[in-house]
Amino acid sequence: MDLLTVETFTRPADDDGLRALLPTLGPDRTPLGGGSWLFSVPQPHLVGLVDLTALGWEPVVADAGGLTLAATATLATLADLDPSSYPEWPAVALFAGCCEALVGSRKIWHTATVGGNVCLALPAAPMVTLAAVLDGEATIWTPGGGSRRAPVVDLVVGAQRTSLAPGEVLRAIALPAAALRARTALRRASLSPLGRSASLLAGRRGPDGGFVLAVTAALPRPAVLRYDDVPPAGTLAADVEALGDAHGWYDDPHGTPAWRRAMTLRGAEEIRRELGEGR
Ligand SMILES: Cc1cc2nc3c(=O)[nH]c(=O)nc-3n(C[C@H](O)[C@H](O)[C@H](O)COP(=O)(O)OP(=O)(O)OC[C@H]3O[C@@H](n4cnc5c(N)ncnc54)[C@H](O)[C@@H]3O)c2cc1C
Repeated sequence: MDLLTVETFTRPADDDGLRALLPTLGPDRTPLGGGSWLFSVPQPHLVGLVDLTALGWEPVVADAGGLTLAATATLATLADLDPSSYPEWPAVALFAGCCEALVGSRKIWHTATVGGNVCLALPAAPMVTLAAVLDGEATIWTPGGGSRRAPVVDLVVGAQRTSLAPGEVLRAIALPAAALRARTALRRASLSPLGRSASLLAGRRGPDGGFVLAVTAALPRPAVLRYDDVPPAGTLAADVEALGDAHGWYDDPHGTPAWRRAMTLRGAEEIRRELGEGR
């Protein structure tokens, strides 16, 4: 939809151009990723947009330390990554599944960015799920010309709430090689096949046997459980229940809290069993 209150649209072509604009960002002047959300609902408070898509950031960079996803990488780019190109990193197979958890058309996937998905911070944000289970660390550019790093699981602090300060922009998310070496599993529940995720769980089990479970969509913010080995069913269920006690099961038209709790317990147990089989 047209955003009729927007008076300025700026498209920096390089990093210096963006850096110079960061101090001007705030509640009324915001970064534009793919715009799949910004242009989908009225934004009467907005007077300016700073488009990130002409910066030319390499979408996916692989090195010995792992994979770095640019904030401007589209979901389509991630979905199209060929896991067989990363034989040492089986967790790359999770990328397509997480993209599929955003049930939009491929048109949306070609537009929606990793950064927009994380910074919008919907409970059902699958890029948050991906980053949470793979120890994703965000690089955030700050308006003073510097940068800071934060685990993505701490960057998202509630439903549509992040710890980003005015003028801060998400630059990239680093996924460490140690996490990428893990086998992974994903479980999603929604009220209808094309509905928004009401519970979205991702698990990983590393070569050392360590087990990690990311719980998203059913809680207002992401949460991660970690174990040295696959835990007993009762332990995992109790720990999942404790997350619900701590954060509250999320409640919106995509699922009641009681149903989200039930689906989360079921998904967690399915992932526990799947990753518990062999190493
Ligand atoms: C059919 C359909 C289905 C959808 N399903 C889901 C779903 O299941 N889960 C879900 O989470 N979303 C869903 N969405 C919402 C939205 O499309 C996605 O969250 C998408 O990933 C947002 O990315 P974007 O790049 O288009 O963000 P934009 O719309 O460009 O921006 C979203 C927000 O993030 C901010 N932002 C963008 N990039 C940055 C950055 N680098 N640094 C700081 N702030 C930034 C913007 O200022 C804005 O506030 C859906 C949308 C549609 C149309």
